[in-house]
Amino acid sequence: MQDCDVLIVGGGPAGLSVASHLAADIKCIIVHQDAKIGQPVRTSGGSFLADMKALKIPDEYYQVIDKLDVFSDTARASINIKSDKMVVLDIPKLYQYLASLSDKNNRQILLASKFISTVKQSDGKYISEIRNREIGQASIRSKYIIDASGWHCAVLNALGLVEKPARLGVGTEYEFVQKDYPDNRAILFVGSPVLSGYGWVFPTNYNTIRLGVGVIKPDTENNPRDVMQTLLESGFLRKLGVEVPDDYTINSGILPSIEFEGKVVFGNVIRVGDSANCATPIAGEGIRIAIEQGRFLADALNGTIAQNNPQKLQDYQTAYTKKYGRDYKIGYWANQRISKYGPKDWDRSVNRISKLQSSEITDLLRSRFNFKNLLRTAFQHLRRKIMGMLK
Ligand SMILES: Cc1cc2nc3c(=O)[nH]c(=O)nc-3n(C[C@H](O)[C@H](O)[C@H](O)COP(=O)(O)OP(=O)(O)OC[C@H]3O[C@@H](n4cnc5c(N)ncnc54)[C@H](O)[C@@H]3O)c2cc1C
Repeated sequence: MQDCDVLIVGGGPAGLSVASHLAADIKCIIVHQDAKIGQPVRTSGGSFLADMKALKIPDEYYQVIDKLDVFSDTARASINIKSDKMVVLDIPKLYQYLASLSDKNNRQILLASKFISTVKQSDGKYISEIRNREIGQASIRSKYIIDASGWHCAVLNALGLVEKPARLGVGTEYEFVQKDYPDNRAILFVGSPVLSGYGWVFPTNYNTIRLGVGVIKPDTENNPRDVMQTLLESGFLRKLGVEVPDDYTINSGILPSIEFEGKVVFGNVIRVGDSANCATPIAGEGIRIAIEQGRFLADALNGTIAQNNPQKLQDYQTAYTKKYGRDYKIGYWANQRISKYGPKDWDRSVNRISKLQSSEITDLLRSRFNFKNLLRTAFQHLRRKIMGMLK
């Protein structure tokens, strides 16, 4: 039996960021089911430069992107990103860096260790059962548990507090070397090659490119491996200037794609990152948000533990909803609509995108909805309806 103040389940960006921002005297244990931090890669790492700077992530962990091409079956939008540049993150190195930020704290990382279950004791503490690949079963007693297990929602699900998400984004990615691919250009593609989802091409800062496809389940019956296979055989990649060699690695992952849920604090069990559905509803971009939320939650926990004041966690939950609720609710509405788009809808949509300012496009990708953009969307929606009635 080991004792700690805070047990963190999951060593992804959310869990690692909670650990790095807890006060140094708070004892915390991270249990992580994988044998290495950051591997296998389960995400594609697209994000934004301004956020990496704000989160103080050193520039050696990303590739800057200032050209974005969006393709559908017959339309194309080519955007020179002026102000809100994008980045592609080096996932294994970034996550190891995030882990190193808590090296000096009172924290331990148990790798190859899976959280199985937990029971609340009469003194309010939790005893959690862990299975480690070498030593077998072990127990950890803690006052707080952070569910940072991603879409698994391992802790909340084990306690019967939430169901696993019923709607999921599922993605597969091929990573390989393509020498002539420009390292500042990202591609997004939509339409028949990847219905009910989208595809991407992201260059990394270590001379590979990541070609990925993601779909939403159960909105489609297709699985991403088959979608990728069809894509490879379709000839569509020639249009993108991408050629898959015989030698590539496969990354794949799952994330929740459900409605915003403001309840993240369940007494002394708190969810963060993908277990709280943190990825943006339009693009499924969650890494910077998982880091931000992890740090934000650690600040609230520091106050709660130092002052023995549970109200701090309630204040955190209120602030959380205020910060994310509105944009995520609107974004989810849009996500459900576009997941039903057919090839012609996507052609129209990409034509509209080609007329937008680059900042409007990055706002859209960020699921950041300002009043002007909302009004424009409402107007276009109304216009399409009227045109449809007149036909
Ligand atoms: C295909 C795909 C593409 C994506 N592309 C992007 C992108 O381009 N940009 C972006 O910002 N985001 C992207 N995302 C989303 C992003 O990956 C997530 O939002 C982010 O990883 C969430 O971080 P997290 O720490 O909450 O969860 P995770 O990164 O999922 O980390 C949770 C960790 O917990 C571990 N775990 C789970 N259960 C247990 C257990 N019982 N015991 C111990 N450990 C456990 C898991 O092994 C996992 O490593 C993508 C996701 C997918 C699936």
